[in-house]
Amino acid sequence: MNAPSPHTNAAEGVRRWKPSPLILGTAALHGGAAAAVLAQPATWPWAASGVVASHLVLTAAGLWPKSALLGPNWTRLPDTSGGADRRIALTIDDGPDPEVTPRVLDLLDRHGARATFFCIGDLARRHPQWIEAMVARGHAVENHSQRHRHTFSLSGPGALRQEIEVAQETLAEISGTRPLFFRAPAGLRNPFLEPVLCGLGLRLASWTRRGFDTRERDAGKVARRLLQGLAPRDILLVHDGHAARSADGRPVVLEVLPKVLRAAAAAQLQWTTLRGALAAQAVWHEGERERPVPGGGRHPPFDKI
Ligand SMILES: [Zn+2]
Repeated sequence: MNAPSPHTNAAEGVRRWKPSPLILGTAALHGGAAAAVLAQPATWPWAASGVVASHLVLTAAGLWPKSALLGPNWTRLPDTSGGADRRIALTIDDGPDPEVTPRVLDLLDRHGARATFFCIGDLARRHPQWIEAMVARGHAVENHSQRHRHTFSLSGPGALRQEIEVAQETLAEISGTRPLFFRAPAGLRNPFLEPVLCGLGLRLASWTRRGFDTRERDAGKVARRLLQGLAPRDILLVHDGHAARSADGRPVVLEVLPKVLRAAAAAQLQWTTLRGALAAQAVWHEGERERPVPGGGRHPPFDKI
């Protein structure tokens, strides 16, 4: 069997939206509250409190970037080797930036590393040559919305879809490949996002660890946050756009990346893109289905051996 290339769209397509347990619970609570008030109008303060509380929980889940309470969310790479995986992913957000991105690309080349760039559609339109360079140099281009608005997580389903779909079209046109992953601006979202992503064939990705390199001016501190406890299957987050500057005016990320790339090499970790990990996951699950069980029958899919 041929492994799908990380740059094919084998995994593309509309995913079926399955409401998360929290969403189902909230819907049930709303129905229960309405029924209670109809049956016994005096219960309305209790019913209203329950509904308000459920909205607070939903809001909190959306403000927590690594939460999977609103739907699936990649916070680590999937295990595709029964625990023997040595792969990690570097994700680079908020570009392309005409000053920083070319230097990031050179650093990655020098260390033979592949990265996933979560790009902003408007910036891609302004600097298409750096999107083309990412692809030509073996990296993946994914969707980080069209305008990176700070009000993104306050948008309704129509506005969310518009913002993501325009970026999807922009990035597909310039890179030649449709993005497969989406990262929300600042990692903030709301319950409408997951059904929109399903409709566009996108998966939500956040991260395992980040260095806060848009705010922190000390490259050593950023590198420590990224490297402390670094483990296989981690997803790291840095930025080529909105990069903080060190005291001498240099973008912090350019001092951080060599430290991170050297540490990963010393730990014998290998860089992969998120779409590379997605393709490996598809092959792994396929192998699990095909692997015969001694004595006949087949393993259930996803069963670890
Ligand atoms: Zn961002």
